[in-house]
Amino acid sequence: MSEEKISVTKSSMPAISEYVEEIKPLWESRWLTNRGEKHRAFEGELKKYLDVPEISLFTNGHSALECVLEAMELEGEVITTPFTFASTVNAIVRKGLTPVFADVKEDDYTIDPCSIENLITPRTCAIVPVHVYGNVCEVERIDEIAKRHGLKVIYDAAHAFGIRLNGSSVLNWGDASMLSFHATKVFNTIEGGAIVCRDSALVESMEHWKNFGIESPESVIHVGGNAKMNEFCAAMGLCNLRHVDEEIAKRKVVAERYFELLGAIRGLKVSVPPSNVVSNYAYLPVMFTEGFGATRDQVFDALADEGIFARKYFYPLISDFNCYREKFSSEDTPIARRLASEVLTLPMYADLAFEDVERICEVVKRCGSY
Ligand SMILES: *Cc1c(COP(=O)(O)O)cnc(C)c1O
Repeated sequence: MSEEKISVTKSSMPAISEYVEEIKPLWESRWLTNRGEKHRAFEGELKKYLDVPEISLFTNGHSALECVLEAMELEGEVITTPFTFASTVNAIVRKGLTPVFADVKEDDYTIDPCSIENLITPRTCAIVPVHVYGNVCEVERIDEIAKRHGLKVIYDAAHAFGIRLNGSSVLNWGDASMLSFHATKVFNTIEGGAIVCRDSALVESMEHWKNFGIESPESVIHVGGNAKMNEFCAAMGLCNLRHVDEEIAKRKVVAERYFELLGAIRGLKVSVPPSNVVSNYAYLPVMFTEGFGATRDQVFDALADEGIFARKYFYPLISDFNCYREKFSSEDTPIARRLASEVLTLPMYADLAFEDVERICEVVKRCGSY
């Protein structure tokens, strides 16, 4: 094949000159981490951009999730979804909590509120839903269930940067939301993450937790770890934030081309955002169901033969991971289990050319029997 390879994603980066300008002051101040000038500036800008009351920055999204679970001092069972990235469940287990898997909804792959209700026991302390691929969870119903049972809700919003539901930030639902600014996400700080919440006491507590539990030079109040965002990552965040609207607008154009080309194919399902949601077009998940005429794996291989790299994201299901399969059964969540075998996320990034989208869709269509 003469054509160029297409990867599943490409990290957004500012012009190198813009980044160099941003980090220059660090050579004067020699203040490289621990709430420096860039960290404080980025925190302020991000709060404004995301339209959220409180934010705490971290080295990465995973540490942020571990930290908030720790700072909330949770104990017992946490209801979550197996149709997610390893991080969600690993964080729960690593904090000494027991994950309990609810099934997901057929239509948008987010956690099914009915399934949550059935799994609540006296040991349940929290729900960790995931806005998977940026698809917004049933936030109102989850809120109602949590309030009725006195449970905390912590959203894994790693895919939900900037998403708005009925005109306001989706990050304001629940007791807290975790964001990831990993290189592969819609908005990146190279590595990075955050917790968004309304509770300023929780934010203050997390400031200690992520810095060894240090309250003041002679007082350590928690057995905390180290998960602080450094100045270079905050500087990257400041630069990327200036361009993120433009990046998302470009992603939208790419996504709409995909929807046009793949929207009416038998047995193939794309996720078009509903009209009350402002999406960030983070991923392009496609489900290959029975009627399509080829399996997900066959499509994956056909694309790979053409130098096009899609991802089986999320496959395998978390409960089928080697480290979990002795304790859990994916048969308990049949919808999630089936979706994991049907899903393929197609290449998606701001600068993906129309010709490449067309080439990808041609290969996909060729696999089907329509
Ligand atoms: C990326 C991701 C995380 C982890 O974020 P990092 O910043 O890479 O630590 C957690 N959950 C989901 C669903 C993710 O996609």
